[in-house]
Amino acid sequence: MPTHMSPAPTASPTLPAVAADTDVPTARTPSITSTIVLATSRTVPSRRAEERGLLLEDSGPAPQVEAAGGSDGHGGGVTILLSDPRVSAVPVHDAGERLVALDASFGPAHALVRAELADRLAAAQDLLPRGIRLRVVEGHRTMADQRAIIARYSAEVCAAHPGISATDLHHLVSRYVAPADVAPHVAGAAVDLTLVDVVGEELDLGSPVDATPESSAGACFFDADGISPDARAHRRLLAAVLTPVGLVNYPTEWWHWSFGDRYWALAVGAPAALYGSLADRAGAA
Ligand SMILES: [Zn+2]
Repeated sequence: MPTHMSPAPTASPTLPAVAADTDVPTARTPSITSTIVLATSRTVPSRRAEERGLLLEDSGPAPQVEAAGGSDGHGGGVTILLSDPRVSAVPVHDAGERLVALDASFGPAHALVRAELADRLAAAQDLLPRGIRLRVVEGHRTMADQRAIIARYSAEVCAAHPGISATDLHHLVSRYVAPADVAPHVAGAAVDLTLVDVVGEELDLGSPVDATPESSAGACFFDADGISPDARAHRRLLAAVLTPVGLVNYPTEWWHWSFGDRYWALAVGAPAALYGSLADRAGAA
């Protein structure tokens, strides 16, 4: 592990209670957001469903980034979504690191990431048991690609929920794709990854990488219930090797981990993000 690595973070956004935000209407008139949360709650234990129900009925104070409750960094709590204004409020003091391509040990994509993130991923790779490897399927993404994904998924959500308000749309879309101005992939600060075995076959993680909340009935949420014991164990293994090297998971996507972006800074309590959008930097890749 490189000596410049900081200790493992002790805070992380947690449970995917996606309705817990200040701009979500109360349950008196069920909103689109609450409809989706309730739909994905059907497969979870009653205690968690009740917690979500309470969140829906009382929009209450803004959710906090809570201290992790477990060794894997995923304790109980509420999720901070990338659409949360506290994420965009985090200042960026860009470290100016270049993008580097991940080597073949991370699979054929050779994804581009900031140099320190590459170091940390290499350290995480070394923590895995023999015969299991991290496979990174995407790293840096152009702003144009980010906007295209937002447009595509927004259209899906609008088609599924005719008449959805702009606020609800922004909120729901951010579970799956980050608003462009805070997008961790555009900053070169995030990877989408999974686990593969010795012959390169993907392990069971409970849903495909990039599954939407709708298509996976919520199984894309890191803490989703109703996934197989193997899938649960493999997600725990991801957290067990990525959390100690300083990466933070986006709780609505088990495959998305980042370091140095605004979301990471909010999660770990850093005063500023280390990496901003590369689209804003002249000459960036
Ligand atoms: Zn991602």
